[in-house]
Amino acid sequence: MSTIAVTGAASGIGAAVCQHLEAAGHSLIRVDLRNADINADLSTAEGRKAAVEQTLSACNNRLDAVVACAGVGVTAPATVIVGVNHFGVTGYLDGLEDALAASGQGKAVIIGSVAGSHMVAAPHPMAVAMLDNDEAKACQLAAEADNPSAVYAASKYAVTVYGRRKAVEWGKRGMRLNIIAPGAVETPLHKASLDDARFGEAVKNFVAPMGRAGVPAEIADGVDFLLSDKSAFVNGSVLFIDGGMDAMVRTKTF
Ligand code: NAD
Repeated sequence: MSTIAVTGAASGIGAAVCQHLEAAGHSLIRVDLRNADINADLSTAEGRKAAVEQTLSACNNRLDAVVACAGVGVTAPATVIVGVNHFGVTGYLDGLEDALAASGQGKAVIIGSVAGSHMVAAPHPMAVAMLDNDEAKACQLAAEADNPSAVYAASKYAVTVYGRRKAVEWGKRGMRLNIIAPGAVETPLHKASLDDARFGEAVKNFVAPMGRAGVPAEIADGVDFLLSDKSAFVNGSVLFIDGGMDAMVRTKTF
């Protein structure tokens, strides 16, 4: 069985991912702000460094997979959205790349968002700064944008592009990286947006063709697939688990 690190393990989708993987007999390294094996703040460079060091120590420098799930929603401050959703993923995965390679066929799944595809046609400069690995500039542009939905979309667009770039590099080394783009999923993050005076109405009215939000286990099922040998030739894919939301918004773009 595999050793798998899961960020955002204490709540929502990450907790469901842990339940599934543990039930399948895998050994887990849970990372979160609190209530995890490794308590670390992925919004800061120091927190990411600590998370990487402690993960390497816990897995003895040999890791089979990472599920990068930790994230914040539109109700978080702009710089925290940038820090966790983009740099919290890239800093953690970059730090673990050698350990993933050491396992022979390391795998990763990034939990992106259907919101990331809103920016595919015209990425905002803050997303470009994220992809240039310039956190200070990305945070400055995000703060200036004063538009949490755009910051969230930019963070998810950038982390998806990062993942696809990595998939090209990793594929040559027998490693795989895929991205899951969930639509609305019933978690504390989603509830916070629904309860927010600024975003609640829009979030409530943005409903997938299937007429409901997803549940965390439905995203965890996708993670199970992407970490299994059933997806052995799947690399660099963006798997929408969104009840048809992306098909509804971007019917002709895929
Ligand atoms: P959640 O709030 O239930 O879980 C997120 C977890 O990330 C929490 O345990 C939280 O403590 C952790 N986290 C937040 N900031 C952190 C930090 N600085 N350092 C370490 N850990 C931190 O939310 P969720 O809905 O399960 O979100 C999981 C992922 O799914 C996120 O990346 C989110 O953007 C993505 N997503 C969620 C939805 C949705 O509707 N719920 C839709 C699309 C994408």
